[in-house]
Amino acid sequence: MNAETRRILLVEDEKAIRDAVAAYLERENYWVTPVGDGQAALDEFAKHHFDLIILDLMLPKISGERVCRNVRDTSDVPIIMLTAKGEVEDRIIGLELGADDYLIKPFSPRELVARVRALLRRAHPAEDPQREILEFGDLSIDVSGHKVTVAGREVDLTASEFKLLTTLSRYPGRVYSRMELVEKVLGYDFEGYERTIDSHVKNLRAKLGDDPKKPTWIYTVHGVGYRFEIPKKEEPAAPAQG
Ligand code: CA
Repeated sequence: MNAETRRILLVEDEKAIRDAVAAYLERENYWVTPVGDGQAALDEFAKHHFDLIILDLMLPKISGERVCRNVRDTSDVPIIMLTAKGEVEDRIIGLELGADDYLIKPFSPRELVARVRALLRRAHPAEDPQREILEFGDLSIDVSGHKVTVAGREVDLTASEFKLLTTLSRYPGRVYSRMELVEKVLGYDFEGYERTIDSHVKNLRAKLGDDPKKPTWIYTVHGVGYRFEIPKKEEPAAPAQG
């Protein structure tokens, strides 16, 4: 089985740390969902699949400790706890809360990435780390193999369409202006070309079968540009969120 891009839920209320860690992990090709409090963490965890959670202990709204216990009720996902020195005795975090590993602040991002890698390797032993496959519902993007499939059917994209799709999908929810997409996808910087992005998007949507009026993946942001969204999972009837 090929490794798809690993998704990491990053829960940290200190924005500077959150941004630095997210940037570092993204550079390592992890897919990062950063949130700033415990409630947001549980909300994201309920909605999406994650391969690993990086969880600060002291958080607004719901503490990291409670988030950890809550997650552990339903999931074995690897969890790395972040804690400031002296917050809680280290051993308690490791042994009682169910975290797999912990780091004491301040830590180096490199150290964190090494721990992330080690935990993911433990969780997914026999996979090829070089292969990058992004999956969004029926849409699968083999980045290294330049291959895109929708519901198992291979879609033939031009180089620009492929670049456009990987650019948008790497950061779901991020809005890209036409100008940014021109630069990233076409590699030049000239206002007259902004509308060519619209035609690339139109063709890409047609090939993926993505209806612009009711999009699954690619959304128009009026007056600005485009953004990519991860399709919502069909969720089984669940009791009211408590
Ligand atoms: Ca904190």
